[in-house]
Amino acid sequence: MELTPEELDKNQALAFHYSKILELLGEDPNREGLLKTPERMAKSMQFLTKGYTQDPAKILASALFKEDYRQMVIVKDIDFYSLCEHHLIPFFGKAHIAYIPNGTITGLSKIPRVVDVFARRLQVQERMTTQIKDCIQKTLNPLGVMVVLEAQHLCMQMRGVEKQHSITTTSDFTGVFNQAKTREEFINLIKS
Ligand SMILES: [Zn+2]
Repeated sequence: MELTPEELDKNQALAFHYSKILELLGEDPNREGLLKTPERMAKSMQFLTKGYTQDPAKILASALFKEDYRQMVIVKDIDFYSLCEHHLIPFFGKAHIAYIPNGTITGLSKIPRVVDVFARRLQVQERMTTQIKDCIQKTLNPLGVMVVLEAQHLCMQMRGVEKQHSITTTSDFTGVFNQAKTREEFINLIKS
């Protein structure tokens, strides 16, 4: 991964602080196995939070097409990996997204990219759900959009706070998905 000069500066600062953190944890950052760890952590953390420098609305808007299709468009089982903002520990799972176009559709590959941009920021699952919904609603102006996220939170699993394999589900919707019948159709389609 090539870093820009700005990212390199940030990388050095992050690596410096990660080295201090290792020390505070009781480690010796100068021992062989850890020599490059602060730099690796800095790089990987910049990658895992690169959603801050990306504009998801721009990604969607880069592939808009006029189309008269007014049925449900579903993209399901989109893998995502994010970091919980309370512990900086991963939560990950699948996103399922449906929208009903109102004269405009987007390239199907853009939807997972929007999920990615929001996932690569410090998040809570609830807010991420709403942000994806809002972005699609504002950019595509569909008759309705619905977002369902299912995720495992390692901050619960690793720290033994909750049942080990519990899945957290969140959903949010607009427009025609206010009708229970429309939501059911989507839920049935993502289950099959
Ligand atoms: Zn957490």
